[in-house]
Formats: sequence, structure tokens, C-alpha cells
Amino acid sequence: MDEFSLIDSIKQTYYSQPTLIKGIGDDAAVIRQSASDIVTAVDTFVEGVHFRRDTMEPFHVGFRALAANLSDLAAMGATPAFYLVSIVIPKTWTEIEIAEIFAGMKKMAGKYHMDLIGGDTVSGKELSLSITVIGYVDQDKIRYRHTAKAGDIVFVTGTLGDSQAGFHILTNPSSYDNAAYFIKRHQLPTPQIDFAAHLQKFTRITLNDVSDGIASEAAEIAEASRVTIQLEDNRIPVHETYNQFPSDLQYNWKYFGGEDFELLGTVPSADWSELKSVAKLLPVRITKIGKVINEDTSGKVYINKDGRDYTLPKQGYTHLK
Ligand code: ADP
Ligand code: MG
Repeated sequence: MDEFSLIDSIKQTYYSQPTLIKGIGDDAAVIRQSASDIVTAVDTFVEGVHFRRDTMEPFHVGFRALAANLSDLAAMGATPAFYLVSIVIPKTWTEIEIAEIFAGMKKMAGKYHMDLIGGDTVSGKELSLSITVIGYVDQDKIRYRHTAKAGDIVFVTGTLGDSQAGFHILTNPSSYDNAAYFIKRHQLPTPQIDFAAHLQKFTRITLNDVSDGIASEAAEIAEASRVTIQLEDNRIPVHETYNQFPSDLQYNWKYFGGEDFELLGTVPSADWSELKSVAKLLPVRITKIGKVINEDTSGKVYINKDGRDYTLPKQGYTHLK
């Protein structure tokens, strides 16, 4: 397929976003200024580095790449509106496979009425997918990382370690409980856009999405906010059949695994019960996993286990005995 028939095939027949003036078809897209602030992010996914063809169908590659990007918008409290796709296509990928990548992105985009408004198509050695997302947020409802304060409750949505468990199942064939669940969490993750969109009533919430693992995400909040975070090991939410995996892998995945695309955040303790009610209505599982213990400049994260505090390294393994 040539570049032009690919562009024709992915061009939407109508657009959903009212602020769009010009989508695909000219030299650039045009969006009219709205009252909200614009939030934008880009992520790149390279074959062999960010995904493997033996564990991901082309549809999953597209779906998951856009999900990862949308997770960043969710962590800013933004509502997604547009995406642009720059793709490098090698000869080893068929037209049908490329179409499936776009179908995966379209499926994820459709959940949030996002429009595909542009991109670039070139040939090259490795498949590479670079997605730019654009969203909107009310000026006083942006969720930065630097707003956590001593006394805040630290919470996380969903369960952790599932994506890595799914990858483990795909790469270590054997018989597992709930294999389909874990594999789905790896291949077709759900960004917490709806949860983030329902936090309008809260004046101060800090958010970060779980792309690298909560150890890293918590450290980013702690550093940006200049506070210390203390997590409780026995509160970290995992799936009910998560304990089927070796215990060192359980620890590794839930703290350092990442790619669950859940949201880690902090909220003033006075707002915690209100936040739980909001989550319950959606419904989104949220769990209190710790607290912000003091304001200093260390940016440390402790994990409390059996009454003892261990320093949680920002990356890498921690061996809790
Ligand atoms: P130009 O040569 O002016 O850069 P292109 O031929 O690259 O134009 O693209 C034509 C139109 O198709 C533009 O609107 C561009 O944004 C869009 N487009 C090209 N590739 C993609 C893609 N992979 N995904 C979405 N839109 C694309
Ligand atoms: Mg171009």
C-alpha cells in the first residue's frame, strides 16, 4: 500500500471534537482555541524495545501505545481530544498488520471521542510508532506532581503487577489461574481517564500514572513535592490470584513492574472519604497504600513491612525479608 492509500484508509469520515477546524488532508491540523488549557504529550514505541511481536498482536500494539499516552493525560487531570501518529513502517509488516495497529488506536480513541487529526508516514528498518495526544483541562484543575503535603493519604487505583504477570504468562507457557485476565491487562490496558475526569470537586490532588512502577512514581511525587512518602507493604493492592507467582516476582512486579497504567496519587486526609465515594460510583477500585509523612527535601520513599521501614529504591529490586 502506498502512503496515500494508507492515509485515505485511516482518515475519519467525521470528527467528534467541536474545537477541530481542519483534520487530516492539509499540511497541518487546525484547532480553535477553547477556554480550557491545552495539555499535550508524546510517546514512542519501537519494535523490539517497547513491544515484542510474539507477545502482542498488531491491534494490541496500537491500542496499548495510545493507552500509555492517555495515561499521561489522565495523570494531568486532562480530557483527551486529539491524537497524531507518526509511523515508521518496515517492509516486514503487511498492510493488514499496519491497518490493525490503526484499528487498535481507533478502538482506544473511540472510548473517549478522540479524533485522529494528522501524522506522518515513512518507511524504515524497525516499526516505530510515535503518538502525540492533545487534551483539555480547566485551568484550576490541572494535577501536578508537586502538590503533595505532609498528612496526605497516598492512594492507588486498581491492582498492581498485573501487566508484568501477563507478560510472564505469555513468555513462560504453563498453566495459570486467570491467565486471560493478566494477559488482557498486559495487551489491552485501560488508562484511568474516567477516574481523573471525576475529580473536579477536589481542590488539591496529586497524580502520577503507573508506567514505571509505584516505586518510581512515588519517588517522582516525593521529589517534586519535597516530601517523604511511606507506603505499607500489606496494603499494596494485587489481584486475588496474584500469589500464584513466585514471591520475588510478586515484589518486583508490584513495585517496579509498571505498565499497569493505574494512577498513584495523594489527597488531603479530610477529602479521603469523599474520594472513596467518587471512586465507588464509577466504579474504580482505589486503595489507601500509605501517607505523606513529612515535608523535607529528601524525596524519599519508605516501605513499611512488619513494623520496619525500608528505603524503596527508585528503580531496581528491593529484597524484603
Ligand atoms: P505533507 O507532505 O504535507 O507533510 P503528508 O503526505 O505527510 O503531507 O500527509 C498528508 C496528510 O495526512 C496530513 O494531514 C497528515 O497529517 C496526514 N497523515 C500522514 N500520515 C499520517 C498518519 N500516519 N496518521 C495520521 N495522519 C497522517
Ligand atoms: Mg508529512
